[in-house]
Order: sequence, then C-alpha cells, then structure tokens
Amino acid sequence: MTFHELKGQNRAVKILKSGVHAGRIAHAYMFCGPEGVGKKKAALIFAQLLNCKSPQEGEPCDKCIACQKIKHYTHPDLLEIEPEGTSIKIAQIRDLQERAYYKCYEGKFKVIIINDAHLMTMEAANCLLKILEEPPLGTIFILLVQDIAKLPITIVSRCQYVPFNYLAQEVLEEILAETGVEDKTILALSQGSAGKALEFIKEQEYYSIINDANNIIESLPAAGYKEILAYAERLEKNRDMMEVTLETMLNILRDKLISLITGKEPVIANLVGERISIPICLKFIQEINKCFYYLKNKCNARLALDVLFINLRSIYSTERGDSP
Ligand SMILES: [Zn+2]
Repeated sequence: MTFHELKGQNRAVKILKSGVHAGRIAHAYMFCGPEGVGKKKAALIFAQLLNCKSPQEGEPCDKCIACQKIKHYTHPDLLEIEPEGTSIKIAQIRDLQERAYYKCYEGKFKVIIINDAHLMTMEAANCLLKILEEPPLGTIFILLVQDIAKLPITIVSRCQYVPFNYLAQEVLEEILAETGVEDKTILALSQGSAGKALEFIKEQEYYSIINDANNIIESLPAAGYKEILAYAERLEKNRDMMEVTLETMLNILRDKLISLITGKEPVIANLVGERISIPICLKFIQEINKCFYYLKNKCNARLALDVLFINLRSIYSTERGDSP
C-alpha cells in the first residue's frame, strides 16, 4: 500500500509525509475523523513508511519484507488493539504497556495502533497517559479516534493531531466504481464514508432496511399510538438494527430536504411522499438527532424511541393542523 491509494485525505497525508521528511516523528499520533474514511489504512501505510527498507519520495516501497509483513499483519513490531465489547479496558492497555517497552524485534519502529481509542475507559486512558508521559524509545502510538471530546485533554495534548475528513462525493464514487458498484442510493446513504458504503454493499438486508425506515416515516401520519409504540418495541429489540434504521431515516429525510429545496429528484429512490414538507423534514431530523444523543448517552433506549415516535407523530399533526 502507498499513500497514493489513500483517497481524499490529502491534508492528513501531507502532515504525515512532511513529518517523516523533516525527521520529526512524534511518539503518538491521533488520527481523528469519521468512521470509514481511511484512518486505519493510513495507519498501516504510515507503519510501512516508518519501517520500509527503501522508501521513495515519502512513500513506502510496498515491496520489501517489512512493507509486506505490515500489509499482512504479520510484522512482530506491529501491534493493534480494539474495544472488547463496548470499550477498551485497562487490562488491554496494561498488556500493551509491557510490550511497548520491549525492543523492536526486526523493525526500526514498533507501531501500536489503538482502534476506536475514544472508547477507552477512564482507567484505561489514565494508564495510557502514563505510558505517553514516559514514551518508550522507538515505539509509536497511533490512536484512531472518531470523537476527540471523549478523550482526556491530557492524552490529546500528547499526540500529534492528524485530521481526516468525510470523503467528497466524487472520491466515494471512484472508490465504489473500483468495486464495480454504481449505486446512487448507496452513495447518498453512506454520507462521505467509504467504510459505510462498503458495508451497505455487503449487507444483504440493505434494501429491506431502507424500506423499513421509509415505511416508518410514511405511515406515521395515519398510525395510532398503539402502532407507534409497536415500532419502538420492534426496533429496541435489535440494537444494531435500531441504529442503522434511525440513521437511514435521517439520510432519507436529508435527501428529501435537499430535493425540496433544490427541486432536484431525490437520490435515495422516490421514497417519501408529498406529505413531507420542509418544516416537517427539519423537525424530524432534529428529533432523530436528539434520540441518537440519548442513545449514545446510555439513556433507556425504549423510552427514547417511544418519545421519538410520539414526537414525530405530533409534528405531523401540528404541521398539518390535524387534531393530535
Ligand atoms: Zn518497503
């Protein structure tokens, strides 16, 4: 792999390359940005560059034994951890702590990638902080982070910040075209994340999720409270599906909103009908975002969904002047 293969992240690539070129290699990096935009791939390419036997113009050669081993995750100086369940625990960081101070086996640098570092528990973060305060020589930490606000400032300030952005539509189109997919609906739903787009492609139930999300929006005006609460109950039973369905509802509404404002055809099929006006779209988006906030902050999921659907139903009634 080379940085040429990392599409749409020129700013991040520039920071990484120029640091290595100037001999300024930090002990810890924080690759910060949304899910599925290339942070992990960038970390591996950077690990290759740091250990490559014959780098050329700021790029790893991708051919030497070090490059090949890193690419296939078989390099003994490449370590990686990710959340166990919903968080990264202190035991995982303690285990790293021990290994971080070992000498490199065969590389120039030991590279430790911490996936979803924002999911570290407070104890784990404090343990990592201790390592970063006395950084082991020749060991580079790369923290992959989606939400920087969830990390203690003491950790953030010890890392070189490398920003990753959402991918532009044309970059996403190019990535999808390489996999032989030209589906405008997937493009619109993936909202600048190649990871999400590729997940949608793999997801067998992809169209049924879109239909489900659309049905909920469409059937709300005529639904009784019993029916509304049944939607909430069904969604709450499957946490993964719940988030994907809510996110898809958001994307459908965003798409409808753009189409109402610009007069262009919606991209995500012609799903939501005439009943959805601009004010209804805006209020729905606001309510769904609020629900996401409650879910992320571990509020009672069933209650958050009940409130969401009841609120969406009353927005319909109020906007159309019906009796609630
Ligand atoms: Zn190489």
